Amino acid sequence: MQLEKYSVGVGDRFGRQAEAQLQAFQTAAAQGVIIVPVWNKSNREHHLIGSEPIAVRRAADAAIQAVGWAHSYYVDADHIGLKTVDRFITACDFFTIDVADDIGKPPAPGAVKAFMRRHPELEGDVEIPGMERPIPCARADAEQAASKFLRAIEEAGRVYRRIGAAKAEDSFIAELSMDETDRSQTPLELLIILAAIADENIPIQTLAPKFTGRFNKGVDYVGDVIRFEREFNDDLCVIRHAIRQYRLPANLKLSVHSGSDKFSLYKPIRDALKRHNAGLHLKTAGTTWLEELTGLAESGGDGLILAKQIYEQALAHLEELCAPYASVIDIDRKGLPSTTSVNGWTREQFVRALRHDPSDPQFNPSLRQLLHVGFKVAARLGSRYLQQLEACKPIIARNVTRNLLERHIRPLFLMIPLC
Ligand SMILES: [Zn+2]
Repeated sequence: MQLEKYSVGVGDRFGRQAEAQLQAFQTAAAQGVIIVPVWNKSNREHHLIGSEPIAVRRAADAAIQAVGWAHSYYVDADHIGLKTVDRFITACDFFTIDVADDIGKPPAPGAVKAFMRRHPELEGDVEIPGMERPIPCARADAEQAASKFLRAIEEAGRVYRRIGAAKAEDSFIAELSMDETDRSQTPLELLIILAAIADENIPIQTLAPKFTGRFNKGVDYVGDVIRFEREFNDDLCVIRHAIRQYRLPANLKLSVHSGSDKFSLYKPIRDALKRHNAGLHLKTAGTTWLEELTGLAESGGDGLILAKQIYEQALAHLEELCAPYASVIDIDRKGLPSTTSVNGWTREQFVRALRHDPSDPQFNPSLRQLLHVGFKVAARLGSRYLQQLEACKPIIARNVTRNLLERHIRPLFLMIPLC
């Protein structure tokens, strides 16, 4: 099973929008660019919502049938580890193996020395085609990087083999994610990670490193775009080099876990993909739920009332909702409107505060981030929430499709012809 050059991860917390999401991919395909959808849902999300991985599979299969999608699609066990992978094995064919917790744990005695013996090429300057200058690789630096990452890669090997023991080897795609850490990886670290992955025999097809800057949920990138662009280019060069040097899968590509809506990065990413003729996996999870809320509000009547109640509950449980996401949200509490004022809003006011249009002075990033992590409130509402989704279905579907197509797929993949 080989992952296509371009793929986009989509989340669908309540499992009702797969068809509307797929319409966006269908439109791109009609314009000649095949981007394959990957429905991803993490263990934490399943836990908060009370859903099972098989429900994601069923929703995806049904949407594929209904829309008549003729290309590949995948269901991703998002951010799984050895403790959480089992419940995903039957339903999923894409596994995002997350070993961030093992980064920095001391490796077994002798492991670093053995690694250095296997990799004499990682001493002295390492010349990487496409990079401005060689990566300086003093033995001490290489050893330090190896000792930081070897345990994590061994753990990834264990997870991969556990999946491989239950599924045929060519029946799933493996991604390695290291994005949920505090520090971005240097080119040297990335090279050592890739060498270690090859040693562990993990045929990963995508790799999600941590990039520089803040990737807050549902809002734009906060950081140095120029520096991001340089890092992204360096990562592409290192990956291409490692594919040859360590015989990793030829289609190995970068995966950008962005918390969605990193609009200011789309141009540098697109330029880099073009320059290197490279593929990309982009994860946009979480925004579909916000489009459901936008659609409820835009529908007016009971839909708007429910959207306002969800905001009220989210505001009341702010600490509890934000705690698990502390490192990926920046909410300015003073910027959050009171329940009283939101209850007086028209549907237009609600939609404009929530919709991610950076040029709109009424857009409120704090409100958007709070509602982004507020899906638990909707989960608690249960059938009342789901019934309202049904009642407002056409308007919600239009928002879901348009968001994915116009804000993500078009600027990244359709604006300038890629290679
Ligand atoms: Zn991630």
